[in-house]
Amino acid sequence: MADFTSRNGGRPRRLVLIGPPGSGKGTQAQILADQLGVPAISTGEMLRAAVAAGSDLGKRVRRQMSGGGLVDDPTMAELVRERLARPDAAEGFLLDGYPRTEGQAATLEEILAGRGQSLDGALLIEVPEEELEQRMAGRGREDDDQGVARARLEVYRETNPRLVGYYQRQGLLREVDGHQPIERVTLDILAALGEAR
Ligand code: AMP
Repeated sequence: MADFTSRNGGRPRRLVLIGPPGSGKGTQAQILADQLGVPAISTGEMLRAAVAAGSDLGKRVRRQMSGGGLVDDPTMAELVRERLARPDAAEGFLLDGYPRTEGQAATLEEILAGRGQSLDGALLIEVPEEELEQRMAGRGREDDDQGVARARLEVYRETNPRLVGYYQRQGLLREVDGHQPIERVTLDILAALGEAR
């Protein structure tokens, strides 16, 4: 892999993965986390675990999640702030599912700045719309019934352009074609990370 001129020195280790529901970003996050030696942090998984455990957080977010909408920003900020403060994230992380909006991206920047850190890159996994609807229909998660799946895609369509614009302006955005076999997408992401800034 070509040297990547990271703002944090060395290899890119503080990354966010952006992509529509059904884009395979969760799968890529797991594979890449292994390869880069950093934890994959999925806010969706953390929230689902909280709901399953019936914790205070779970009770609070259950309804916000069930319709396919977003959990409120203060709750998300607290969740991410606490998670990034854990020792395993000290040297890097791969965030999957956060930030989802421009406001959350600004919050993440503040959280990292408070720790003397900054992001190395934002990876956008692109998948054509028709493909997404098919993939979601085949996944069968509880919140993936048709109406909810559509609502989640709608939220993505509304919020994502500004999020992407935010990272584009910072020169952090890398786009990858997600409409390919899993291994191919992984290779393209690694290649994108290898590009000099
Ligand atoms: P995901 O597994 O990333 O698709 O997330 C599943 C659900 O968790 C979403 O539909 C939201 O309700 C909630 N969620 C996850 N991440 C966020 C976030 N960054 N902001 C708001 N809600 C989120």
